[in-house]
Amino acid sequence: MKIFLLALSLILPLAATAQMPVERAVAITFDDLPFASVPTEDNAALEHMSGRLLQSIQASHVPTVGFVNEAKLYREGNLDPARVEWLRRWLAAGFELGNHTYSHPSLNRVPLDAFEADLLRGETVTRPLLQSAGQTLRWFRHPFLHLGKTPEVRAAFQDFLTGHGYRAAPVTVNNSEWMFAVAYARAQAQGDQDSARRIGAAYVPYMEAVFARTEQLALDLFGRNIPHVLVLHANSLNADYFAALAAMLKQRGYRFINLDQALQDRAYLSSMAYEGNEGESWLEGWSRAAGLRPSQQAPVPALVKQWAGAAAIRGY
Ligand SMILES: [Zn+2]
Repeated sequence: MKIFLLALSLILPLAATAQMPVERAVAITFDDLPFASVPTEDNAALEHMSGRLLQSIQASHVPTVGFVNEAKLYREGNLDPARVEWLRRWLAAGFELGNHTYSHPSLNRVPLDAFEADLLRGETVTRPLLQSAGQTLRWFRHPFLHLGKTPEVRAAFQDFLTGHGYRAAPVTVNNSEWMFAVAYARAQAQGDQDSARRIGAAYVPYMEAVFARTEQLALDLFGRNIPHVLVLHANSLNADYFAALAAMLKQRGYRFINLDQALQDRAYLSSMAYEGNEGESWLEGWSRAAGLRPSQQAPVPALVKQWAGAAAIRGY
């Protein structure tokens, strides 16, 4: 028995190490609230989508921040109380809201002062909503992940963010989920349920390839996986498939953390390349700054590209 216990004590630490899962954690964020990539402006359909998405996120026990474009709260120039209510439900579900500008301009395309004015216009409803829920508006997400074309613009905008109590919400998991969402919505709008189903079925395997690539980028740069930040959008694709996506990530060993937790990792202190490609993730920008060349993004299936069509030029 003694020998057995001794043997066990020698084996156990090794066995424990061998079985220890790789640390995988991700903060999931949703952009373009209250809705993105929808073929309709019909409130009943949008409310249905918004409700299903929220339920799905809650059921998957995923903490999240939703980034709002307040321009979408208006109908024919008037603030629509129903749409404001959809945002209130995000807060009531225990989630946080952030600012994604009023009208989704690109910091690479419009002058800094115009961009900042649009950002401030984007707090009109969200800031008091958060206050009434005992929260503070503190997160900002760059539309298109466009960070500004020059070091001067980036530094000046950083000062602006800090001065207004914001922290930029990075993204490390670059992906073309928005392209799937456009394709999915179009197929549905045209009544082509078979294509919609095939686009939906390709979404989660695609995202798994996206994560495999992202993990490799982190490994190449940091020698380890890092807590990631994923950007998705408030669309009908995720209303229907987010639960499957979350299940895939769990299966892959991910636990779901909030943005604060992710950003505690020292990786987020890395310096960023200024000459990076437009719309790339922070992880890709850090890689370029370190002299690495990020690998190609995971391929989007031809069917999805076909359905997304001209809209595929856009992003985020
Ligand atoms: Zn966006």
